[in-house]
Amino acid sequence: MAKKSTGAAGPWWKDGIRFECQGSGKCCLSRGTHGYVYLTLEDRRRMARHLGLATAEFTRRFCRKEDGWWHLKPANEAAPSPDQDVACRFLEGNRCSVYEARPAQCRTWPFWPENMKAKAWDREVVSFCPGVAAGRRGKGRLFSASEIRGLLEEDPLRDD
Ligand code: SF4
Repeated sequence: MAKKSTGAAGPWWKDGIRFECQGSGKCCLSRGTHGYVYLTLEDRRRMARHLGLATAEFTRRFCRKEDGWWHLKPANEAAPSPDQDVACRFLEGNRCSVYEARPAQCRTWPFWPENMKAKAWDREVVSFCPGVAAGRRGKGRLFSASEIRGLLEEDPLRDD
């Protein structure tokens, strides 16, 4: 019987990934099923402070709770869900108008748990985001594996 693999070789990104935001704003646009910007309590507090609002007021004006998770309301509040809207309500041109206070979900792109399988990375990130070059080595600053793990820990949908 062959020795069982312990997975010690590590993930495909064990040597890190290069990424540098090119300011395209593409990750702030809905892509059919990618329109939700989820928010932790800390996100709501930080964004409220940034806009000079109380957290409760920010939450009332800009947030909605669905299936137990807070997310930004679509800019077009008549849209049935953020997936049906065009862009994040805080996107102005190609720029985030709350950039310094942007949610963890935005700050940690593209290092999201659902993107980190090699196939998903190719499909959801390489083919879409100009912040990584075609192929898996990427471009721009090198994010080490431990840095990536830290960003993955910030997943706003972590249930702990
Ligand atoms: S909050 Fe800012 S960075 Fe996040 S999706 Fe909206 S415009 Fe983009």
